[in-house]
Amino acid sequence: MGNLSKNFSRHEFECRCCGRAEINPRLVDALQQLRDLAGQPVRISSGYRCPEHNRAVGGATRSQHLLGNAADIVVRGLTPVELYRLAEEVEAFRNGGIGLYPDKGFIHVDVRDARARWGQLDGTNPQDSGFGRPSGRPEGVRARDGEHQIRNAGGSAGKNRRK
Ligand SMILES: [Zn+2]
Repeated sequence: MGNLSKNFSRHEFECRCCGRAEINPRLVDALQQLRDLAGQPVRISSGYRCPEHNRAVGGATRSQHLLGNAADIVVRGLTPVELYRLAEEVEAFRNGGIGLYPDKGFIHVDVRDARARWGQLDGTNPQDSGFGRPSGRPEGVRARDGEHQIRNAGGSAGKNRRK
């Protein structure tokens, strides 16, 4: 049992360097929805980051992690692409940010008030692996969106199908 939701506790979101935490309740709600969809524990590898820690890990200057809006997550038994697809099923993530890091084995999710997608898509473009839904297509990287400043490795960024 968690102390923030059924499965999540505050300590999972705390900054890894200092234990401080800002936690947007919408993030907890969305992660709980994802956890229920997955039917498996969602491990948070990075939640809130204080400015010092964010710099230390090379996070984006205006990272959503600094606001308590973001988490980097792993679910055992799911590939990052599968987890990315599942995150698209959660409304707050679908309308927020999702980043794909297949070679690092995790995805980033956040509950910002705008849609943002980015990722390393080498050969693992979700749309090419049976995504089905157009909204599942990661859009081109804009440096401000990329939490780790990683450039889009594939795909054309031309189409915007959010409407
Ligand atoms: Zn810290």
